[in-house]
Amino acid sequence: MFQTTITREASVEGVGLHTGVYGHLRLVPAPADTGVVFRRVDLDNFTIEAQGHNVARVSYATSLMKQGVLLSTTEHLLAAIYSCGIDNIFIDIDSIEVPILDGSAEPFMQLLDHCGIRRLRRKRRFLRILQPLEVVEGDRRIGIYPADEFRVRCYVDFRHPLVGQQEIEIAVNSQTFRHLLSRARTFCFERDITPLREMGLIRGGSLENAIVLTEDGVMNGPLRFPDEFGRHKALDLIGDLALIGMPLLARVEAHKAGHALHTQLVSRLLADSSFWTVTTAAEPVSAHEAPFHEAEVAHPPAAAD
Ligand SMILES: [Zn+2]
Repeated sequence: MFQTTITREASVEGVGLHTGVYGHLRLVPAPADTGVVFRRVDLDNFTIEAQGHNVARVSYATSLMKQGVLLSTTEHLLAAIYSCGIDNIFIDIDSIEVPILDGSAEPFMQLLDHCGIRRLRRKRRFLRILQPLEVVEGDRRIGIYPADEFRVRCYVDFRHPLVGQQEIEIAVNSQTFRHLLSRARTFCFERDITPLREMGLIRGGSLENAIVLTEDGVMNGPLRFPDEFGRHKALDLIGDLALIGMPLLARVEAHKAGHALHTQLVSRLLADSSFWTVTTAAEPVSAHEAPFHEAEVAHPPAAAD
């Protein structure tokens, strides 16, 4: 259970869903204990850590902000990085928004496949949940509960003949994410397009990067899964949980939640350390833990990492 980074760099480019700004994104290997860090190469490599304390405006996408510097729509890329177990990576980007590409996380998975994953000489740390924490807003809620692996359960209910009630539950790892969630695309309702545009959103939206639902069908089918909508919400949830900044040993249940509730849970969790502990052991803490821990502390920082 060692930390990881990517083996080699890889790039992708495209338009941002909400701003419509075209950007270039490059994934770059990073040393142990770096975490996931965005670098605005158009702003002198200004760094924005993908962590809960940098969460900014959250409505139709999750945005990070640090000292007034904004970075939007991080969730699909972060979901792929988090599910693949990549602990350390620089994400160099020259615009205000992560490219939406096809609206799913599949292009980011292909990018990560090209990068490869490398093990570093430093023990991985997990955030283990010790007691439940729930955030409730009317009939929407999200909760995080103790577990020995990272699981998510996501329930959505949209009044539409193609959606209705959909529920997905998975143990999150690179394989389950790749096959069950990564290809699920973002979606919107045709009736919301004009109001969203008037709010300055979805300026980069098109039939190539989002499923558009009409009153009784879909404008740009076919769907990739009959329950693509529920799967995409689970993808979004994982991307927002990535802002915890460490792999999770927990079960997360989201009921009609969205980015706002997801990130509220992350912020409340990180603000109160009585709900969690940090451990280097993925398994329940045992007598073998102490010597491992000492060995780790004694390990000198490896420059080659
Ligand atoms: Zn999404």
